[in-house]
Amino acid sequence: MKLATSKTRGFASPGKYIQGRGEIDNLSFYTDKFGENVVIIIDGLLFDRYKARIETQYAGRKSVSFRRKDGEVTGAEIDSLILEYRGKGINSFVAVGGGKTIDTVKAVANAVRARMIIAPTVASTDAPTSGLSVVYKENGEHSHEVFLDNNPDIVLVDSEIIANAPARLLVSGMGDALSTYFEATCTEKSSFEAYISDEIGVSLVPTLLAKEIAKLCYKTLMRDGLKAKHAVENKTVTKALENVIEANTLLSGLGFESCNVSAAHAVHDGLTKLPRTKKFYHGEKVAFGVLVLLALENYEPEICNEVYRFCLSVGLPVTLGDLGIDEIVPEEIMAVAEETMRTPIIKTLPGAVHARDICDAIITADSIGRMYKSGKTL
Ligand SMILES: [Zn+2]
Repeated sequence: MKLATSKTRGFASPGKYIQGRGEIDNLSFYTDKFGENVVIIIDGLLFDRYKARIETQYAGRKSVSFRRKDGEVTGAEIDSLILEYRGKGINSFVAVGGGKTIDTVKAVANAVRARMIIAPTVASTDAPTSGLSVVYKENGEHSHEVFLDNNPDIVLVDSEIIANAPARLLVSGMGDALSTYFEATCTEKSSFEAYISDEIGVSLVPTLLAKEIAKLCYKTLMRDGLKAKHAVENKTVTKALENVIEANTLLSGLGFESCNVSAAHAVHDGLTKLPRTKKFYHGEKVAFGVLVLLALENYEPEICNEVYRFCLSVGLPVTLGDLGIDEIVPEEIMAVAEETMRTPIIKTLPGAVHARDICDAIITADSIGRMYKSGKTL
């Protein structure tokens, strides 16, 4: 995370993005393009269901194997999978599952020089499109990032599968996607490099396209977010749901990678300091981080009204209490602020910022959230 040292523009994306009802049943059509040796890695909880469904497409072909993925994304597991598959002539790896399955497959496929097809089963993360894997320690603590040589070859999203996943996961994805526009704006104002600069090792600034994608991501959530939640609650696939799946997966993914992350994600990292927030999803903590960003950047009341109303309508947190922090202890909030300051991504926030500013913004965002809950607005 550095100030941009050049005006060279850069943009990253997956090779192809396919999204629609029943698309998982077309998986073999896509893997066949890359060759017959295929490894399909499926989230442990979904393994039996999806192995049976996908197997029928390959009619007993011996060159196709299945494997289940349980637990964290760890360096040890990635290394052992690389050792197992290196030099075996695997043409493509397929990930069927959530962020942990996706990040494991991306790192392994990249290392053994195979194609990667990502089939997310939830729209709670923007991992499917990006050119990096986040690796954790056995105990769940963040360890490091693996930057890939290329973004995934194909992202294959089956909207029906997303519609059948818990609504809270889609909402959490909306919380993550909510940050994309505001964080892209921070990066632009502070003249920082785009996120892909770290991945590639070259100083790049965002393209016009990436900035428009970030705006479109926000607009789509405001327009269709609540309708999409209703669709998932009823396990139905509607146009609004398709739009929000695209916002959570494609627009948010492209937006963060080709612009950057900032205070909302930094506050998320700070909040993980408090064990009580552990049971909340990434996107739920990021959503509260967006409210803190609005306070830090002193956004106009119209925008604040729109964002708070949106969060309340879909059930994203607007107060610390919504994140399990019922009692506000000033020392604890300061500890969150200090942890927030320790993350390099806070640097993309325009102007000088100190832990005290973050602490005050957290307390203010929470207080405004309580006001909205009582029915008042700014
Ligand atoms: Zn995120």
